[in-house]
Amino acid sequence: ALGRARWERYDPDRGAEEATKHELATAIPLALSRGEFVLDYQPMVTLPDPVVSGFEALVRWRHPQLGLLGPDRFIPLAEQTGHIVALGRWVLEQACAQARRWYDDFRDVPVMVSVNVAATQLREASFVADVLGALHDAGLPADRLQLELTESAVAGDTSCALAALSELAAAGVSLAIDDFGTGYSNLAHLGRLPVHTLKIDRSFLSPVRPGGPTDPAHDKIVAATISLAHSLGLDVAAEGVETPAQVEALRVLHCDSAQGFLFGAPASADDATTLLAHRIAT
Ligand code: C2E
Ligand code: CA
Ligand code: CA
Ligand code: CA
Repeated sequence: ALGRARWERYDPDRGAEEATKHELATAIPLALSRGEFVLDYQPMVTLPDPVVSGFEALVRWRHPQLGLLGPDRFIPLAEQTGHIVALGRWVLEQACAQARRWYDDFRDVPVMVSVNVAATQLREASFVADVLGALHDAGLPADRLQLELTESAVAGDTSCALAALSELAAAGVSLAIDDFGTGYSNLAHLGRLPVHTLKIDRSFLSPVRPGGPTDPAHDKIVAATISLAHSLGLDVAAEGVETPAQVEALRVLHCDSAQGFLFGAPASADDATTLLAHRIAT
């Protein structure tokens, strides 16, 4: 079932959980052809005034037996099996098509769509062609698309990744480093990449204290990250913003944009469109 020239030892102790994982991983191509994946969209807002500037596309699987599955349940499996390449192409096509609808319906509002890219996708020889093809098929200007790459995806063997990223950046696509701070990237190295934005992982934000002030130690780390990023000419986006106190701290630190439940949880394309019609998230 896994394809030719492969074998696996039968392990009678392998738990039911492993079996389910395995079944999930191999079911991805069929699920794609059956249209079981959907994209939700989470608003990204500018700061200091929270105006909607775009949406991050986040994939979900409407599994006929298991119900709605979040990406953490199947993205790592899709990466291991290589199915992420086909799934990632589908995500890109869908997100670009949706961004094109927003482009048509809100001509005077620049709405970005941001798409997560796995390391495996970036290393695929067809990656640049896939992205440019998705933009072309949707009729979407390249400056409406942002790609989110993890630190590990752009670290290590960077020569081919760098060539791909340079080509996309030259075409007008925006590039962001996702979950910044959770990896071990060298900021000097990031500064040399054609990257535009650092998305600070939510674990660096001050912990949520309902009604209370933010934590000075966390604020210092965020402040240092923001000033370093700015000195390298990079924008900073804060992830996982949940409270007004966190936004206030980010405003003081000149953070460029934010995303989080405070401004809107991931929602259907229709709900995202409604939000866009109002523009101001809070
Ligand atoms: P991510 O890129 O860091 O995406 C943000 C995740 O944080 C989303 O979870 C979102 O629902 C959650 N989140 C947003 N705001 C808040 C907040 O204020 N508080 C808290 N506690 N959480 C918040 P989700 O949708 O479950 O996605 C999980 C991860 O799955 C993503 O993390 C991303 O790494 C991956 N992923 C999602 N869609 C795709 C995709 O199309 N391709 C690839 N390669 N990875 C994807
Ligand atoms: Ca992301
Ligand atoms: Ca992230
Ligand atoms: Ca994250």
